[in-house]
Amino acid sequence: KKKKMKETIVLYPSPGMGHIVSMVELGKLFVHHGFNVIILLIPPSHPFIASVSASNPSITFHHLPMIDLSPDSVPSHYHEPYQFELIRLHTPNLAHALRSIIITSSSSISAFIADFFCSTSLDVAAELNIPFYFFFTTGASVLATFLYFPTIHESIRTSFRELGEFPLYIPGLPPIRAIDMPLPILDRHDPAYDALLNISHSLPKAKGIILNSFESLEPRSLKAISDGLCMPHAPPPVPVHCIGPLIMSEGRGGGDDCLKWLDAQPEKSVVFLCFGSLGLLSADQLREIAVGLDRSGHRFLWVVRSPPLTKEQNKLVSATPEPDLDALLPAGFLERTNDRGLVVKSWAPQAAVLSHGSVGGFVTHCGWNSVLEAVCCGVPMVAWPLYAEQRLNRVFLVEELKLAIPIDDGFDKGVVSAAEVERRVRELMSDGADDDGLRERVLRAKYESVKAMRKGGSSNSVLIELVNAWKKQVDE
Ligand code: UDP
Repeated sequence: KKKKMKETIVLYPSPGMGHIVSMVELGKLFVHHGFNVIILLIPPSHPFIASVSASNPSITFHHLPMIDLSPDSVPSHYHEPYQFELIRLHTPNLAHALRSIIITSSSSISAFIADFFCSTSLDVAAELNIPFYFFFTTGASVLATFLYFPTIHESIRTSFRELGEFPLYIPGLPPIRAIDMPLPILDRHDPAYDALLNISHSLPKAKGIILNSFESLEPRSLKAISDGLCMPHAPPPVPVHCIGPLIMSEGRGGGDDCLKWLDAQPEKSVVFLCFGSLGLLSADQLREIAVGLDRSGHRFLWVVRSPPLTKEQNKLVSATPEPDLDALLPAGFLERTNDRGLVVKSWAPQAAVLSHGSVGGFVTHCGWNSVLEAVCCGVPMVAWPLYAEQRLNRVFLVEELKLAIPIDDGFDKGVVSAAEVERRVRELMSDGADDDGLRERVLRAKYESVKAMRKGGSSNSVLIELVNAWKKQVDE
């Protein structure tokens, strides 16, 4: 009997750690279900990719050619439009790559799954007649927000930033202050606003949206989406497939010193502070955090990155120089806290740190991967949003899920004070967190996340349904 050819799935993440990490995990799931997986990558390559490709020989990583585009050539206050422009310029390269995959592989492409930032690839897939799916790297609440964004856009004429505290009513979400909308759409006149509005318009054009979340984490927003409430003018609603939580299952190498240090700490005694792959705090803010940690008396593991060189440096992606800790932190801080704190430069193996038994709390910038990692490890959070859609995640984490304590609004106005850092760290690490039920809620969410991924669980069933549909489409 002739052996059946493996079908191919092509994945197209947008650049940026937070977008690539979960896409790679998605690829692993498809390999497990017997597909060929090809991941197309927009350069420059990340060191993380080298280690992932070494440990996943069954996934093919294909690097698109380098395009020279200066971040300064894209007129926006935010880093996203630079990414969108890069993705747009890669459209011919993408088409070329897909064509050569079709020609050289003996099977067809069952599905092309692009990051939601890569909406310009919709047309390429349509032209080549390949089933197109979006992969949404953040939660259902944010998906509901983007699906509803065109409706809000029609009904107001002012920038969200100017509307400030004004409440917006998005189906499936608690009321959202206008200022808590995703950062790049706060200014109606910034090119980022139109670009994301376009993306919102293209979301319903996909055959489906694959979401890195799970049913029992976000039932309200998922229901609002499937009931069509978020797209009042575009029935029927686009199918949403929740297959998460997909979290990073391998580190980027290194970081053994933090894990060894954690081994020597008592159970659940350490607060971990980490602000994502792009989060840069000012030198003033770093000093306030240091003083707050010092006064809190708690054990801590803190990832410190160099402050931005200029106010405008928010366009910069991941590369920053190593921080000079002695110059940045208050005199004597490192010596004074030597027996109960560890400061690491630039990077820690976050997923491994969060799953370490000594970690009892997480001060996070609310990036969606970080949130899911904390949920999967059952670690309660202090929500301190910085960029992208993180303010929205904060509202959701604090008000809807009640898995996080909010940092005071100082993050809105510039610098969060040492007193606020001290107060929130104490609250998170003290028995108060138990009394309020925070720890119990987080443990329940952890349990639910495991259940969703198990055989017969919600995410597992959704994945199998998708995979079977693709296999059937080939048989036919
Ligand atoms: N990360 C890490 N160590 C760090 C900073 C980040 O391992 O010092 C990982 C983190 O575990 C997560 C990803 O990088 O998997 C960041 O994704 P997230 O969505 O949280 O935030 P983003 O960096 O995209 O803002």
